[in-house]
Amino acid sequence: MILYTALFIACECEHKYYKTVVYFMRYHRIPNETVRRLPIYLRGLLSLREEGRKSISSRNLAEFLGFNPWQIRKDFSYFGGFGTRGIGYDVEKLIKQVKKILRIDIVHRAALVGVGNLGSAVLAHPGFKTYGFDIVAAFDAASEKVGKKVINIVIEDVSNLWTLKRRKIDLAIITVPQQAAQKIADALVKAGIKGILNFSPCRITVPKRVKVITIDIAMDLARLPYYMPASH
Ligand code: NAD
Repeated sequence: MILYTALFIACECEHKYYKTVVYFMRYHRIPNETVRRLPIYLRGLLSLREEGRKSISSRNLAEFLGFNPWQIRKDFSYFGGFGTRGIGYDVEKLIKQVKKILRIDIVHRAALVGVGNLGSAVLAHPGFKTYGFDIVAAFDAASEKVGKKVINIVIEDVSNLWTLKRRKIDLAIITVPQQAAQKIADALVKAGIKGILNFSPCRITVPKRVKVITIDIAMDLARLPYYMPASH
């Protein structure tokens, strides 16, 4: 992720009352690990806000989240640093800033393809709205599902995926069987989708301009025993 940070410096001259404004553009390459942690910071900050916290030090925020304080300070330093010495972070302000960085300060309209066991559970999950996602369309290939409603969304035939562009839907969730995933991804790209969350346990290939994140719970489970004490 490349972030363009504009630094604003106002120089006030002693005799003439005018200000010279200088903008510096800093070009940063933000490590993926930092981007990965930002939603975790956001989740913690939202909980803190719910508890009524107005401000928090980097040490207390780190303790709350289970991170190192230096890690948090370093991550935020990529964006110019948000804290005030001695006071810490303003929770409300920081929530706004992190959302802006992640570009979830605006609502993203999303579509889901494959309304089976997992797809239906994803559609029913209320937690996506908190992070700026609104699943507004669902598609399936099974004729007996098309026309049925899941949580106020009428399931459409998958042949209608091409309509996504004019409906201003820029994000898609794939919950179809593995063997159908690539074909669906191709259709989504053609329909102008810019980001795909893929639950199918396979690698899908898309043009560089489209971002794919694949989630596979089995992969996380598969590395869990490695960290567990061996039983003899
Ligand atoms: P499911 O069989 O219950 O649902 C699949 C749905 O996709 C069905 O409704 C089917 O009609 C539809 N479908 C099939 N081909 C299609 C196509 N070409 N276009 C549109 N719709 C199509 O399966 P499930 O249990 O919900 O699993 C869905 C996917 O999620 C699978 O790939 C599975 O391996 C994966 N999965 C991932 C995780 C994870 O951790 N990421 C967990 C469970 C399941």
